[in-house]
Amino acid sequence: MQEILLPHFNERRTPVDMLVLHATAHHSCEETAACLDKLELSCHYILGLDGSLCRCVAEDKRAWHAGVAFWQGNDTDLNSHSIGIEICSPSLGQTPFGEAQIEKLIPFCRKLIRKYNIKPQNIVAHSDIAPERKPDPGKCFPWKRLAKEGIGLWYQPRNAEKMPENDVVRLLASIGYDTRDREKTIASAYAFRRRFLPEEVSADTDVHHLVENVYPQGNTTLLQGEKFLKTLKAVAYSYQNL
Ligand SMILES: [Zn+2]
Repeated sequence: MQEILLPHFNERRTPVDMLVLHATAHHSCEETAACLDKLELSCHYILGLDGSLCRCVAEDKRAWHAGVAFWQGNDTDLNSHSIGIEICSPSLGQTPFGEAQIEKLIPFCRKLIRKYNIKPQNIVAHSDIAPERKPDPGKCFPWKRLAKEGIGLWYQPRNAEKMPENDVVRLLASIGYDTRDREKTIASAYAFRRRFLPEEVSADTDVHHLVENVYPQGNTTLLQGEKFLKTLKAVAYSYQNL
């Protein structure tokens, strides 16, 4: 594997138990690494548009890819215990990812999952853990296909009926999303749609606009919707019944 080592990392405080998938609007490992370097950021791996994979930070080091983030409880130092992969996508995941990339990504993720015994509920989008700030890897990231390959979770719509909880905030929190205040909950509801109901999220093909307008702020209607609630219940069921 190619190496483009980045100096922006430090020591982990906790062992790896999480995988964070990102998208970057660059084309190649070189371009992405140069951009991260300029911003004094990093990740463990970059997957180029052509399916080439490069290593930037050793897995036993704490790379700086998640930033201010939250998942399942009060855990905010996700960099300390996650592996971060940047996946090149010029549209930032607003158009489908290339087959060469996904075919490379699937076995690579499976290898990491086996190596660190990463639980399916700990395989997340950057947008899942930083819903107010980050839109990646985007609405076209093939989460359903990955789940079929054993990477992360999906849902059976009929399982909604088996989920007794109807409260949107509690359901989002039970999956792992940040619901510490109303605005975070709205952002989380949008991140949930990005991942599990992408047809309810319109594609934003202006990448600059997308990164500046990650979710519709203050839009409380995002906490409503029959299909949303049904899907949320079905997903929460998957997360609680592994
Ligand atoms: Zn990201």
